[in-house]
Amino acid sequence: MKLFFYNTLTRKIEEFRVKTSKIAKLYTCGPTVYHYAHIGNLRTYIFEDLLRRTLQVFGYKVIHVMNITDVGHLESDEDSGDDKIILSALREKKTPLDIARYYENFFLKDCNSLNLLKPTIICRASEHIEEIQYMIHQLIDKNYAYIIDGNVYFDVARFNNYSQLSRAKLHDLSSNSRVDFDHRKKNQKDFVLWFSNSKFQNQIMRWDSPWGRGFPGWHIECSAMATKYLGEYIDIHCGGVDHIPVHHTNEIAQSDACFNHQCVNFWMHGEFLILDKNKMSKSKNNFLTLTNLKEYGFDPAHYRYLCLGTHYRSQMLFNFESLKMAKSTLESLKNRIIDWKSELKNKNADKSIAGKKKEYLNRFYAALSYDLNIPTILSVLWEFVKDGEISVNDKLSLINEFDLILGLGLTEHIKPELSEYLIQLIKKREELRKQKKWNCSDKIRQEIENSGVMLKDTENGTDWYLKY
Ligand code: AMP
Ligand code: ZN
Repeated sequence: MKLFFYNTLTRKIEEFRVKTSKIAKLYTCGPTVYHYAHIGNLRTYIFEDLLRRTLQVFGYKVIHVMNITDVGHLESDEDSGDDKIILSALREKKTPLDIARYYENFFLKDCNSLNLLKPTIICRASEHIEEIQYMIHQLIDKNYAYIIDGNVYFDVARFNNYSQLSRAKLHDLSSNSRVDFDHRKKNQKDFVLWFSNSKFQNQIMRWDSPWGRGFPGWHIECSAMATKYLGEYIDIHCGGVDHIPVHHTNEIAQSDACFNHQCVNFWMHGEFLILDKNKMSKSKNNFLTLTNLKEYGFDPAHYRYLCLGTHYRSQMLFNFESLKMAKSTLESLKNRIIDWKSELKNKNADKSIAGKKKEYLNRFYAALSYDLNIPTILSVLWEFVKDGEISVNDKLSLINEFDLILGLGLTEHIKPELSEYLIQLIKKREELRKQKKWNCSDKIRQEIENSGVMLKDTENGTDWYLKY
């Protein structure tokens, strides 16, 4: 079965093709780590996780790269405003590096608790200054960038089709009132690649460069790191819709100018989460975090379930009523799974009407393959859950398949009976872990997982569940 996705570049749903057979190279723009991620940001990362899981289920090996912006992102998405990380450092009386590492850690914990698959590579801007400077050099050599007063700017007029992604009219771009006037720019649409002469003369995170001691502009980090880890042909690049007009538009200009061809095939964007009719925004301080939701008695999985109900290209209005509904729906699903499991133990498994399971699976794949139609998948799931013509055994196996994508940890509720051998292995591994013999305990974990059983270390010892 083929995959089809909406490509923002062409504004069409297109068949997904990769450059290298069965390998999908995916780049997702990561967080600017100056504050906690809000649930709007997390919605975008959930969409990207659904995409990644879909590619895997369709047999692709996914190389997934995500950046961490720990330097150089100014308050506005343009080149104006204050530096977000410095502002937080002043507010919290910490160094910019402490701020960046603290919020990065917190973000990664949030991702883990939402059951997001970890990117193959997570890369920090501050650790790629050499690659960033190398790319700037190339852009200068090719005449796409100019140096003035210690700053390096990308010359937008030199790049054909600058508005291809945003489809903005040129005069809309130049008359953007949010951008501070910069007399050094040839054209006010030009954007900064390197700042050594910015208003932040006391910027702590600075590096030497041929253009002066300074720091990179925001957009160049993604171009430099994406091409470092994925090469000059990238299959999919994602982010939230706010990245279309500036950040991704500038990324395309930089990368395509540097390599003389189109670097990214598919651009996919997640729509916004809206709170009380307003865009949820870290810089405006009107946001909720996953920690806030936990304080109100919700699990991360409840929020994930809520997000699954809205297609990634539609705006999602957040309110606690719908979150409550998501919670009770998910909990009732988990209870059913537990009931089915005990039914299986207590009586002989019933039989499904022939072909029923296959039919549900076909509908699942069809919805998934056509631009990630997860809301339809949820309704198919509830149909088979309530279907009396399909056996409990088949329901459990369908739950397994569906949860490969939904990522709700539903299979954790399908606890298999273990052989005495595996039980002893788990005990032995627990002993080794107490003695901090990590290599040996990891080998045993591998052996257990090879038999189809996944382990989960909890405060009360090791638990297990069926492998996806
Ligand atoms: P940032 O940390 O601000 O760079 O944002 C991280 C990711 O969250 C980016 O992909 C943004 O496009 C996305 N994002 C920001 N605000 C929202 C929102 N309200 N709803 C959904 N995604 C968002
Ligand atoms: Zn980016």
